[in-house]
Amino acid sequence: MRAARLHEIGGSFSIDELPVPTPGPHDVLVRVEACGVIPNLRNVVTHFPSWYPFLPLPALPAIFGLDAAGTVAAVGEGVRSVRPGDRVYVNPGLSCGECRYCKQGEPTRCDAYTFMGYFGFGQGSQALFERYPYAGYAEYMTAPVANLVRLPDSVGTVQAARFGYMGTAYSALRKSGLRPGQSVLILGATGTLGVGAALLALAFGAARVVVVARDRNLLDRLVQIDPQRVVPVQLDGSAIHPRVRELVPGGVDAMLDTLGAKAPAELSVDAMQAVARGGRIVQIGGVAGPIPIDPHPFMCAQLQYIGSLWFTAAEGDEMVAMIASGQVDLDVLEARPYALERLNEALEDIQTQANGFTNFHIAHR
Ligand SMILES: [Zn+2]
Repeated sequence: MRAARLHEIGGSFSIDELPVPTPGPHDVLVRVEACGVIPNLRNVVTHFPSWYPFLPLPALPAIFGLDAAGTVAAVGEGVRSVRPGDRVYVNPGLSCGECRYCKQGEPTRCDAYTFMGYFGFGQGSQALFERYPYAGYAEYMTAPVANLVRLPDSVGTVQAARFGYMGTAYSALRKSGLRPGQSVLILGATGTLGVGAALLALAFGAARVVVVARDRNLLDRLVQIDPQRVVPVQLDGSAIHPRVRELVPGGVDAMLDTLGAKAPAELSVDAMQAVARGGRIVQIGGVAGPIPIDPHPFMCAQLQYIGSLWFTAAEGDEMVAMIASGQVDLDVLEARPYALERLNEALEDIQTQANGFTNFHIAHR
């Protein structure tokens, strides 16, 4: 099979020929049809070893590719729930499966939590990379059956190539406690995370989705999705929170911070002041802190600041059910397919041409 591999940090991907892997007893072999390309991948393969030395990358050469979707090609002898031919999204999050957090169904709390084809979070990551060295920029990959999210006929594999960031927003909305009829502020709303968060917040029944970003045209596109409920606030150098509080008296019930890697903390600190008493702020972006929190006022207002990492395969199932029911319309996304051989070009183009509505992905033949 053909696979795009990275041979050195900061280098380009090259197309290598590798044998098609064999799935283990509780694993599946997936023939990948589409895999997302995200702006942050360039950071990961260029800067992460210096920016975040505590986040290990797989030993090189390595296959990358975070959000893979395709068709099950073969299953291990212990697999019962899926069969060859089933269409699936592969949640790339691996965990040890043995620690107390894994046992209680909270894999993202595992010390060894690791993204296949991306990076890991701890000492146990290298062993998991070795066990699952394949990912979406290869024609085939293996994965534990528990990582699969089944796709109904109405949800395409190209749409599923966006599920990583959408699922991250989904899990964050759950943790925000947002209830129907409430209000939510999405900071960085026109980015890849932000657009997914806005679509899902509407599906969660938010009465007001305050979208905060710089680009007027992209904000207008968000408003067009639901002009009654989506309220834009353009970043123009003036303070965010007075404007939000004018639109939503008393402040917003929840805030999702989706700003990208190394974004300055000032915007976050400003926006947080628009959160109502008892509200929750969920961090799913890459803001470079620290974020000052004054404990006494924070206590008096009963605010909560929550970090949220990725999403479980079970949350992926819930999100897919929501999409399949028509509550989330992914037709607003624009497909931008690239052949595997053009991965390096896709990574260049995405730096200047991407916005939250584009769906850059590798389309395998
Ligand atoms: Zn574990």
